[in-house]
Amino acid sequence: MKLYAEMVLIGNQWQQNKTLSIGEQGTILSIDDGLLSGAEKVSGALVPGMVNCHSHAFQRAFAGFSEYRASQLDSFWSWRDIMYRFVAKMTPEDAHKVAKYLYLEMLKAGYTCVAEFHYLHHQVGGKFYDDPAEMSHQVINAAKETGLAITHLPVLYTYAGFGKQAPSEAQMRFIHQLDEYCQLLTEINSAYQQESTIGLGIAPHSLRAVSEEQLSEIVPFIRNINPGAPVHIHIAEQLQEVEDSLAFYGKRPVEWLLDNHSVDKNWCLIHATHLTDQEVANLSKSGAVAGICPTTEANLGDGIFPTKSFLEQGGKFAIGSDSHIAVNVADEIRTLEYGQRLTTHQRAVLTSQSCASVGQNLYCHAAKQGALTVNQNVGEIKVGNRADIVVLDRNHPSLYLKQDNFILDAAIFACAELPVNDVMVAGQWKIRNKNHHDEENIRLDYFEVMKKLTA
Ligand SMILES: [Zn+2]
Repeated sequence: MKLYAEMVLIGNQWQQNKTLSIGEQGTILSIDDGLLSGAEKVSGALVPGMVNCHSHAFQRAFAGFSEYRASQLDSFWSWRDIMYRFVAKMTPEDAHKVAKYLYLEMLKAGYTCVAEFHYLHHQVGGKFYDDPAEMSHQVINAAKETGLAITHLPVLYTYAGFGKQAPSEAQMRFIHQLDEYCQLLTEINSAYQQESTIGLGIAPHSLRAVSEEQLSEIVPFIRNINPGAPVHIHIAEQLQEVEDSLAFYGKRPVEWLLDNHSVDKNWCLIHATHLTDQEVANLSKSGAVAGICPTTEANLGDGIFPTKSFLEQGGKFAIGSDSHIAVNVADEIRTLEYGQRLTTHQRAVLTSQSCASVGQNLYCHAAKQGALTVNQNVGEIKVGNRADIVVLDRNHPSLYLKQDNFILDAAIFACAELPVNDVMVAGQWKIRNKNHHDEENIRLDYFEVMKKLTA
């Protein structure tokens, strides 16, 4: 197919009057000047689809249920207790329907690919399903049916805390021993390795939930299956975790990880909120991507990632919606920038040498580096990449008559959410004129699950 648009963001530059030729496999084959014959005219501005580097799909079901004060010290840990109560009721069918609704929301928000950090594996009490990969299949199929590309990251979660502490009853649905986990990876890999919009990586949950020995074994295991497979880990989200790590390893979490593992561009460190200056320098040097989840981190009161100094030292980041308190690309990027403005007392903080516009700079950076976190050929509109494309509505009042860098700046800072009109994944339209073909059914199914979960 051929697509023509008046404004196309190629790399970090807006170009005018371009035709994209897209092959049957969904790859961009060429980008030519002018309107080629047979091209579909798209009225709007073309930008690369955003990668969502961190999602726990089932958590969408209780977004909004933990915004009240239950004790003097509400925090991440009290939120986690509420999350565990929801988890106790969720069946594979429920998880499928919740994930489908979430993935529909993601597409409509301008996300085209998600890294799903999946830890709800087993039945209540911890018994495996007949197919131990049942829950993984449900979530992967939700993405496939909705049309969102996915990189599935089964989570290895064995312990409740540093020093191999036994898991609690509420955590039993998450727990694997190492050999069971490796079997799960093997099964998922063989089931989906032929599918171009379904990737596989690993997610050791956190340094508190896996042991040093496990971490040393699973990284080579997945590298053997797929050398480019991403490795995601929650790290340094909470000060308590930093203190526990200091007590157990004698080092802070990020410090310990960088000292003991070959952390490189295939790693994504989720949150990495609490860093010393030395850790910021070493993390940026490692080439790993920081998976920042600004709206969730704000919602949970985690803290603010030191984005300014990290980017100044060449660090890479991607954005994730994590708990899904917001499924909103503009909100994530805005919150990231506003956190820096509020702490530095400056404006337009997160720019780069190649781009002085905050909105465009952060959008392009997050999409491009996000591609590393899913190990898929996306993140930029260019020849050879998959055609994961978002069409922004230039008739939105905030975008009207905007040109070049003002388009994304306005879309992010002057709109409540990105004014997404159409979304394409792998050369196929998934959202047209703000609608998904199966939207009503997906929404009604979600309502049914919510009735059950809240009964
Ligand atoms: Zn998370």
